[in-house]
Formats: sequence, structure tokens, C-alpha cells
Amino acid sequence: MAAGELVTLKIKRQDARDAPPRWETFAVPGQENLNVHAALMAIQRNPVTRDGKKTAPVVWDSACLEEVCGSCTMIINGRVRQACAALVDDLEQPIELRPMEKFPLIRDLAVDRSRIFRDFGRVHAWIHLDGTHDLGPGPRMAPALADARYELSRCMACGCCLEACPNYGPRSDYVGAAVVNQVRLFNLHPSGAMHAGERLDALLEPGGIAGCGNSQNCVEVCPKDIPLTTSLADTMGATTRRTLHKLLR
Ligand code: SF4
Repeated sequence: MAAGELVTLKIKRQDARDAPPRWETFAVPGQENLNVHAALMAIQRNPVTRDGKKTAPVVWDSACLEEVCGSCTMIINGRVRQACAALVDDLEQPIELRPMEKFPLIRDLAVDRSRIFRDFGRVHAWIHLDGTHDLGPGPRMAPALADARYELSRCMACGCCLEACPNYGPRSDYVGAAVVNQVRLFNLHPSGAMHAGERLDALLEPGGIAGCGNSQNCVEVCPKDIPLTTSLADTMGATTRRTLHKLLR
């Protein structure tokens, strides 16, 4: 895009969760390699609509600006993705921006994703370290396993896979693919495997892995190309074995 050319953005605005939504259109100066985040910053500096009406600056979240924190996730031209990684040159105009719909709205494009982190807690998505220092080094991890786990560990809790999942949302307690993937990640760790049963038991509770409907939307939208359907299938197998084991014990 040549400098000086105008970029048109149509943005869904909402002052609060229970306030009526409205659409506003803005035109900002284009420049080479402009991304949606930078276009929003231009609106923030001069919050005037394309029709010349002064308005409140658009609210959205951002932090790392290199697609590793997930905070600027929103729906851009109908696809859930990060504003920092969405180049204006690759998008049809007007560029339509909406907030994710599966998470409580804060304002405009900002949503509250804290449910993801609460659900990580539900499944114990961590390695237990308290009291282990005196035991010395933990078991070693084979390079092949480290590589396999690295692929799973790239999740940034952006919420794209949850937004795209028809089984996830405010009226469902299904934890979603990102959380199931964390269970697989930590259960594959040689130290984490010591508490694998706890994590699988959490996924056997209401809202657990039985909530997956196998739509496979999650794997289509994950910006980190995490093999989510493999994580779901692998973990479903593990929960089934866990259930059988408990029945036969
Ligand atoms: Fe985002 Fe992928 Fe993690 Fe889902 S699994 S939260 S889409 S990075």
C-alpha cells in the first residue's frame, strides 16, 4: 500500500457489556506493512469517523505485538486472528473488526479471556514443584520428546480455537481444545506424568473432554499450527484408558 492511500475500517463499537452496539467507519492513512494494530493506533490518535464525527478512541488489547501473547485477538473480516499479525495489504476493505463473541465483552474490541486461565487451573496445567528441590534433578527428557512437546507448548492462550468451536461458549462449560492440549503437554513431561491421573480426572468431569463435538474448527484457526485434533484424540484415548483402569481396579 502506498503512503497516503486511505485504509477503511468498519468497527463494531460497544461502550459496555450491556450497552447497545453500533458500527463506526474510519479512514486512516496507509503505509507499507501497516497492520491492523497500527491502523487502530492511528484511530486512537485521531478518533474521528470517516464522516468527520468526533468519537471515543477505540478500545482493544495488545501487548507483545509479535503474535506470542494473544491479547490483540479479534474477528477480522470474519476470521478470528491477531491484529498485530494481520497486514492491511492482505485484507479486503473495508476491514471489518468485531470482538470475539465467546468471551465477556469489556468494551469495543476488548474481551475478558480469564476463563481460559481458570480452565487451565481446573486441569492442573502445571508441573508440581513445591517440596521437590531436595529431591535433586528430575528425570531427563529425550530430545524427540522435547521436540514433540515444544510444538504443543507454543499455545499463547489467544482463544482463537475456542471462538471457532461450536461447543464452547457462555452457555457451555466445555473447556475447549487449548485446555485439552495443555493436559497432553504436561502429561507428556517426565515429571508432569507423575500427576497425569489428576489432569485426566479433571477432564472426565462435566465440562471436560466429553464436550468436544469433533467439528475440527480449532485446528483450522490456531495461529500456532498446534495439532489440536491430535491432542484431542490422544487425550480422549487416555481418559478412556483411565476410566477402564478405574473400573477394573
Ligand atoms: Fe490460540 Fe492455538 Fe492456543 Fe487455541 S491452541 S489458544 S488457537 S494458540
